[in-house]
Amino acid sequence: MMTYTTFQEKPYRPRRRLKRSWRIALTVLCAALALSAVYVAVLVRRQLGSNQNPADLSGTPGYGVAVPDWVEEDLLPLNAYSRPGEALPEISGVVIHYVGNPGTSAQANRNYFAGLARTGETSASSHFIVGLEGEILQCVPLSEISYCSNTRNYDTIAIEVCHADDTGQFSPDTLASVERLTAWLCVQFDLDTDQVIRHYDVSGKICPKYYVEHQEAWTDLLAGVEKDIRGFTDETA
Ligand SMILES: [Zn+2]
Repeated sequence: MMTYTTFQEKPYRPRRRLKRSWRIALTVLCAALALSAVYVAVLVRRQLGSNQNPADLSGTPGYGVAVPDWVEEDLLPLNAYSRPGEALPEISGVVIHYVGNPGTSAQANRNYFAGLARTGETSASSHFIVGLEGEILQCVPLSEISYCSNTRNYDTIAIEVCHADDTGQFSPDTLASVERLTAWLCVQFDLDTDQVIRHYDVSGKICPKYYVEHQEAWTDLLAGVEKDIRGFTDETA
């Protein structure tokens, strides 16, 4: 009996070992193929963002609209995560946000949006960022959508606003720039202050925090926009 079992087992062992190593090799190969497929898919998705034809944007209301000289143009590179190059077919509102990252500069937030092209961490961007000293950066042209305001991405202009602390309140310089920029957009695209809304009004998100928690501060901001609209229209009259 002993000789029989050893005789039986011996010829099978190498074959079983061979099978196991084939199985491992196959698993490794499949995993490598799957990883390559994911990598190619990511590359293709990134490429899609940069293959948009700018000519497609010529029918949009924001096409060819130049920003005032108090806005610094610092456009994001075309990419699927923060500047997909898709047309903004309609402008029927301006949405105000706060960055939610106390003490960060307009430039730092702009660089974060630009970096998403590489990290693919999430999809986010805004047309403008107003900084702690009232500086204004433009990240996305007015003819293209930004990724900021959920269901209103295709008919609004988004403004992200920097703030010094957790309250989310804008400094006087920042606030003055937000009002001025918003007023300029209202004049440019024939909007009323009731078309100036908070992210909160779109999705219920507590953004811009201070102006959701303090309704009177939001009303004051809109009054400031109204005043600046009158200033602009008097200038051009
Ligand atoms: Zn927001």
